[in-house]
Amino acid sequence: MSGPGAETTMQFLYALRSRGVTDPRVLSAMEAVDRGPFVRGVFAGRAYEDTPLPIACGQTISQPSVVGLMTQALQISPRDKVLEVGTGSGYQAAILAKLARRVYTVDRHARLVREAQQVWDEMGLTNITAMTADGSYGLPEQAPFDRILVTAAAEDTPGPLLAQLKPGGIMVLPVGQSDAVQTLIRVRRDETGYHYDELRPVRFVPLLEGLGKDG
Ligand code: SAH
Repeated sequence: MSGPGAETTMQFLYALRSRGVTDPRVLSAMEAVDRGPFVRGVFAGRAYEDTPLPIACGQTISQPSVVGLMTQALQISPRDKVLEVGTGSGYQAAILAKLARRVYTVDRHARLVREAQQVWDEMGLTNITAMTADGSYGLPEQAPFDRILVTAAAEDTPGPLLAQLKPGGIMVLPVGQSDAVQTLIRVRRDETGYHYDELRPVRFVPLLEGLGKDG
């Protein structure tokens, strides 16, 4: 893979910074992971624009600055075990994999999981475990998690995900009606309970029940 040129990378990082992605560790993870291979077909030429793009199964690869802001809000430490719900293209998981010890990611579409796995293999990312599953139930066999990131919008925070967050843990997720503007929220769990704060308006595809037709 050739990757973007130096000037394209500079512009990509500039767009991230100008939209509030300032954490140096997040910026270097995003500099290290080429978004190009995660965008296939007719939209491949637009991989370095700060815009969401269509991927297979009618889904979307998120806008890079939103990926950056969500990753930043998670405050990941190198020893963390992270769960992502909504693998999609696999781009967000690749960024998480640069910052965390291990990343588990699930998607309801088997095809997306398979294609993302190919890209991670080509990139030599070995600390990601991907599975086809309904992520609204989390991943009980690997729980609890230090960090949880949901990249599809639910009307409410799924209870199993709250239960699978460690005390001291952080979860970031979009909440709201699927056809309206949603709110990105951060949930911190401590010994006394769960504490919520609202981060910004966002727009994500809906968190749907069950598996996709291809899987
Ligand atoms: N994080 C992705 C973008 C995800 S788009 C990236 O970096 O490209 C949202 C994804 O959530 C879609 O792929 C969709 O199939 C998935 N999804 C929706 N509901 C789900 C559910 N209940 N369980 C698992 N995945 C789900």
